[in-house]
Amino acid sequence: MVKKTLIIICFLCPFFISQVIAEEKEANDEIEKMAMFKKTEALTFIPWYYLAAINQYEKNIKKEASNDNLIAIEFPNEQWYGLGNLDQIKDATFIQLYNGIGQDGNGDGKADPANDEDTLATMAHWILQWGTSEQDIKIALWNFYQRAINVQTIEEIAKIYKTFGTIELDDNDFPIPLQHNYSYRSTWGDARGFGGRRIHEGTDIFANYGTPVKATRYGVVEIVGWNRFGGWRIGIRDIYNTYHYFAHLNGFKDGLKVGDIVKPGDVIGSVGASGYGPPGTSGKFPPHLHYGMYKDNGYSEWAFDPYSHLKRWEKQARN
Ligand SMILES: [Zn+2]
Repeated sequence: MVKKTLIIICFLCPFFISQVIAEEKEANDEIEKMAMFKKTEALTFIPWYYLAAINQYEKNIKKEASNDNLIAIEFPNEQWYGLGNLDQIKDATFIQLYNGIGQDGNGDGKADPANDEDTLATMAHWILQWGTSEQDIKIALWNFYQRAINVQTIEEIAKIYKTFGTIELDDNDFPIPLQHNYSYRSTWGDARGFGGRRIHEGTDIFANYGTPVKATRYGVVEIVGWNRFGGWRIGIRDIYNTYHYFAHLNGFKDGLKVGDIVKPGDVIGSVGASGYGPPGTSGKFPPHLHYGMYKDNGYSEWAFDPYSHLKRWEKQARN
């Protein structure tokens, strides 16, 4: 018996050790990033949470990291070096001469787009052209991205960081309190009867009327109200640019409104059977929470199957 236990422990050891190392690296990265955001704020007066939000946004829309830099922000070469700087000389004064926007953030005389501090300083100076107020930053972001939804998303992420005073916001929760009766299975892609030939984009968690529904991630409430298909529903966007959709609710938490910041575990409403008709329609199907997840890459938005996430959050909530 002792022998058997030992074998199991040894078999799992490498997995646990590598996981611990990965988690430690991630924690150190977060501390290092935060220090860079704070330093850049001290030098430029651009609030750290905006710099952190722009960086997180850029990280979110990247297909894969092209390097292991902590700062994901990138600038087009001609913008960084200046139009006539064809040899891409990194000397900061030379770049300035050619009207490049590249800045020397770490004080080595060079503006190197591969250097995290230089990149961050460049973004901060880009914003500084307009100023340091919220309105100034909004205009600067608009000039940089030229797409309203990008600007809005960055502002939302900044608001979340500002509210909690940290960039370490990886917690999650299962949307239904575990002590309540509930059941769910993978229902992704099932046909559904209402609204034409749409497939089912989400997971249905069946529970009794009035069962509390909780936020699953740190996020901003983007939508609260009625939708013909979803009934009373709530949409929350998290810092990873994932949109969490809670539908067929019985009601909302008192006072819940667009722009509210939530954290995992906050009760936002309760389970119902609303939807599939004009406002107030209810009871056309058994009460359940329809949970949907959508991803945005800065250009388009698409649904993905939330089932495995729900399974993981449920397991973590149990521990
Ligand atoms: Zn559903």
